[in-house]
Amino acid sequence: MRTFVDVAGEDTSSTRHRVLAAVRDHGPISRAELARRTGLAASTITAAAQSLAAEGVVHEREDAGEAVSRTGPRGRGLSVDPTLASVVGVDFGFRTVRLAVCDVHARVLVTRESRLTERYSNEEGLSVAAELYRSAVSALPAEQGAVVTVGVALPGPIDAVRRRVIGSSVLPGWSGTTAEELTETFGVETVIENDANLAALGEHVFGAGRDVADSLTVKFHSGIGAGLIVRDRLVGGAGSGEIGHFAVAVEGKVCRCGKRGCLDTFAAIPALLEAVSTDAEALDVRSLLDRTVAGDPRVSRIVSDAAELVGDAASRACLLFAPQRVIVVGAMAEAGDVVLEPFARALRRGLIPDTQSSPEIVRGALAERSTVMGAVALALTASGWLPAGG
Ligand SMILES: [Zn+2]
Repeated sequence: MRTFVDVAGEDTSSTRHRVLAAVRDHGPISRAELARRTGLAASTITAAAQSLAAEGVVHEREDAGEAVSRTGPRGRGLSVDPTLASVVGVDFGFRTVRLAVCDVHARVLVTRESRLTERYSNEEGLSVAAELYRSAVSALPAEQGAVVTVGVALPGPIDAVRRRVIGSSVLPGWSGTTAEELTETFGVETVIENDANLAALGEHVFGAGRDVADSLTVKFHSGIGAGLIVRDRLVGGAGSGEIGHFAVAVEGKVCRCGKRGCLDTFAAIPALLEAVSTDAEALDVRSLLDRTVAGDPRVSRIVSDAAELVGDAASRACLLFAPQRVIVVGAMAEAGDVVLEPFARALRRGLIPDTQSSPEIVRGALAERSTVMGAVALALTASGWLPAGG
């Protein structure tokens, strides 16, 4: 196992720990810059850097390569050896399981994906994920360090203290699933978090939210959820960001969550498919998106009305913390302006005129990978290779 603490040591005040943490957070970094950031003497830095380099923990090179590091530009200087350890992100979606193995710089080394039947069970999902995991790990380059942590995204509220799924209306068979159960499945320490929260973390660390401290990521998908990044930190907690369960109509249908008239019952993908399908034709997500983009008047109207409802819900979230940017992810974001325009219109209408600067509204930069990359960020943070707070 090579977590950050395994390599740096537990004593956070030690020279080794301080130097390595600065290289991790700011690498590639020059010795002079290291001295400035750590407050250590140049001779102390040189000695520490030499011993870390001799052990192969840090490298000094002309160009640090394609590192998807949130901090530090590419260039000459000391950087952490990316092969020290690997982490895995797993996204259990509505019908798809996605997995990505990354090095400590979050470079994606291997990906795997598998389609499953809708509302697949916990046993089915775990057995498919275990198989993808085995296959991905066996494809890693020989010099790459072993997997130290797995981060898992699940579509339901997560009890962070007891580390279990409280309930999932998207994957009902997963209620009660624990991080321990997943640790057993993969044979490696596993951490879990809600999927919309991880989509927000993925976009914040690697995608469209990289350069802002406060952002709201809205996942417009099989369920509607939001993740809040406040001062560079993901706002966690069971049930946080559940904007899909904002009530939009007192007399609406009963939602899968048990409340009546939730946004999900009007605007999430299952509700849209039900609205666009006719007796003659049942549409799937792909054909829903295709017809939306092609401008089918009936389908476009249903989708743009739904996007307005989601934009209105997002405006209420914005009123609470005034994010600089709103990032839209999920399958419906793929439809582009047909969804983004009505979403943005409703969002702006919901803000207070003149007193609140309007957030920038953009599509996610990671497409369907935002959640799995958020799971990677979670695993890197849990193993210490990404500083807490992103
Ligand atoms: Zn609900």
